Amino acid sequence: MKIHEFQAKKLLAGYGVPIPRGQIARTDEEALNVARQLGEGPFVLKAQVHAGGRGKAGGIRVVDSIADVARTAWEMLGKTLITAQTGQEGKPVRTLLLEEAVNVAKEIYIGIVIDRRKACPVILASAEGGVEIERLARERPDRVITEVVDPSVGLRPFQASRIFYGLGLDESLARPVMATVIGLYRLLIEKDLSLAEINPFVVTEDGGVVALDAKVVADDNALFRHPDIAGLRDVSQEDPLEVEAGKHNLNYIKLKGNVGCMVNGAGLAMATMDLIKLAGAEPANFLDVGGGATAQMVKEAMRILIFDRDVKMIFINIFGGILRCDTLAQGVVEAARELVIDVPIVVRLEGTNVEEGRRILAGSGLAFAVAVDLADAAKKVGEIAKRVG
Ligand code: GDP
Ligand code: MN
Repeated sequence: MKIHEFQAKKLLAGYGVPIPRGQIARTDEEALNVARQLGEGPFVLKAQVHAGGRGKAGGIRVVDSIADVARTAWEMLGKTLITAQTGQEGKPVRTLLLEEAVNVAKEIYIGIVIDRRKACPVILASAEGGVEIERLARERPDRVITEVVDPSVGLRPFQASRIFYGLGLDESLARPVMATVIGLYRLLIEKDLSLAEINPFVVTEDGGVVALDAKVVADDNALFRHPDIAGLRDVSQEDPLEVEAGKHNLNYIKLKGNVGCMVNGAGLAMATMDLIKLAGAEPANFLDVGGGATAQMVKEAMRILIFDRDVKMIFINIFGGILRCDTLAQGVVEAARELVIDVPIVVRLEGTNVEEGRRILAGSGLAFAVAVDLADAAKKVGEIAKRVG
């Protein structure tokens, strides 16, 4: 789960990382009040969206005086911000973070991710902050300092100092930089984060340091033991169909293609997506209705598929184990009766009560293309996908 920059900064401050003075505002009036409390300016207004790349997209605005704060806030609020990371649909700007502007002398990158291959947290740092770390790692890997932390031992002081010396900063900054690295690591571990990143961490012109931006991603599987983090969720920043699917315990991820998929079991769902690609088409989503799905859940899943404007056909691929084929068929038929489904459907059923399931589908009077096996299903999906484009 992603959280906003202002929330991430509050967490960081709790772990001893210096952050700029500032507060959030949801209206232009609030922004003006915050500015008055902060002083005379200049100020930075920062769009709070679950995406980076705001600087280049007009989501970060510096204003010189208090006279410009309300107008700029008004211009930014209520807009949809499109950055290199949001996708073309963008993210709604409902909250601004208003801060006193910082005089930046140097921008540094400090981040920690979980490296799944090493099964360890890895600290990354670079004296070339502000830019995309992925690109830097690709083009100039020598400029990225890497420290792998053994989680059973924890971050050791020599590692923090190795990062500090690797950055080539003035000796006077040793203490606050190492404290930041240690604080960031503790935050990641104690809150079960999969990413904690400060980009940029800046050295100011008067020789201080401050986290100018912060990004935190929490591990969804650990949210149950961090109600404080779970409470930071902002669904306005998430895909509406994914939010809807979550309400019905459906395992759904939106993708870019046009073949809507309904499958039971994550493994079969992955295989189904491979099958669709092999047939020359593209899946519109990953959707695992789960082993114990009810007819009601199947119906909700169909709703989510047809509410996705990108879905031009549906492929239902079910292996009846715990979820019986007749239950699935009932859900599909009910959905088709109650909703208006105007896209072709290909069904492949196998397993428990498959005869009964096929009978329900055949007797429904609705038009399904029923595949006899997986190869046949792939062929049908490929043909129809080409036709509906
Ligand atoms: P991002 O583009 O979404 O990652 O947003 P950031 O918070 O990282 O801001 C982008 C860039 O704006 C930073 O790298 C800075 O160069 C600049 N910026 C943000 N806040 C300030 C500030 O207070 N003072 C100055 N001089 N630059 C700032
Ligand atoms: Mn940034």
